[in-house]
Amino acid sequence: MNKSYNCRKTIILLIVIIFITVVTSGVFSKTKWKIHDTTRPVSPVITPGTAGSQDTPGQPPSDAIVLFDGRDLFQWRSMDGSPAKWIVNNGCMECVKGSGYIRTARNFGNCQLHIEFATPTPPQGTGQGRGNSGVFLMGKYEVQVLDSYENKTYTDGQCSAIYGQYPPQVNVCRKPGEWQSYDIIFHAPVFNDKKELVKQADMTVFQNGVLTQDHVKLTGPTNWTRQDPYTYHPEKMPLSLQDHGNPVLYRNIWIRELPAPRNSEHAPRPEYTLSMNTLKQFPGLYEYGSDSFLNIKMEDNELLAAVGSNDFHPIYAESDTKFFSKHVDLELEFKVSGDTVTGVDFFIAGGKIEAKKVK
Ligand code: MG
Repeated sequence: MNKSYNCRKTIILLIVIIFITVVTSGVFSKTKWKIHDTTRPVSPVITPGTAGSQDTPGQPPSDAIVLFDGRDLFQWRSMDGSPAKWIVNNGCMECVKGSGYIRTARNFGNCQLHIEFATPTPPQGTGQGRGNSGVFLMGKYEVQVLDSYENKTYTDGQCSAIYGQYPPQVNVCRKPGEWQSYDIIFHAPVFNDKKELVKQADMTVFQNGVLTQDHVKLTGPTNWTRQDPYTYHPEKMPLSLQDHGNPVLYRNIWIRELPAPRNSEHAPRPEYTLSMNTLKQFPGLYEYGSDSFLNIKMEDNELLAAVGSNDFHPIYAESDTKFFSKHVDLELEFKVSGDTVTGVDFFIAGGKIEAKKVK
């Protein structure tokens, strides 16, 4: 009797301790805003896009970054950074067999992506050989593009599958040759300072306006016959489209970086992946003042900068010659004469320093 009373007392005490811990740890804590707080920042006003038809693509919303509007491949490169070899015809871009994947010049992480595609008509081939391409978020996480209209294949490889991981909830494919759309919400994986995974990537996909992937958590990069584990990568990387040997068409591609900025001052800084040939010109020692140096080196295809005896930090390209750091208030603009880098102007903590390349 006494024993069970004590036991009950202990359980009640434990419940009280857990309750207090949960409340004080902020699980139920409110945001800093009061309900209906009139001082809360106003959402930015943007103009919505328009719906398209089979004949005409719609308009993107006004704050989207347009990646392809039917005119040119200005925003696209081959994977090594050289000009993209797909062709543009009648307002569409077409995958050219053997030309390789293409990627955006600009890097993206968390995003809302709209992309339209049409698989070849009349259809040729079967299974994975029919109208195969793919949308690779960060060049690693594929939403399969396939002609899955009356075409059997393994379900985690059909159209709208997260390739090798999640079949779509429904098969909502249109016929070959008809325009289809993907609207994708993607959150990049998160890695900590030790480059360990702390949050998996997730993806929500609408195909032709119908939900096919509901906030699924990716097990790692997508691959054929393998489920690879996550390995560290930067928080933004180019988006790529697959050349699987089939002349799949694309049109009306636009992207919004997430979260949407509350105002233009907080708009994400554009970041690009340059070709190795461009990057290779920059490493070296740059001298300023008397015997002071800015040191640029390359590691794992990334440029790193150190001012004086400070640690090296990755620097990110915002154009072919301009770079910035995300860790310190450092901006660099390299001076290039012909094929030679002669120096760099760098801005650190607001001050401008000119340096000459000496090595
Ligand atoms: Mg594919």
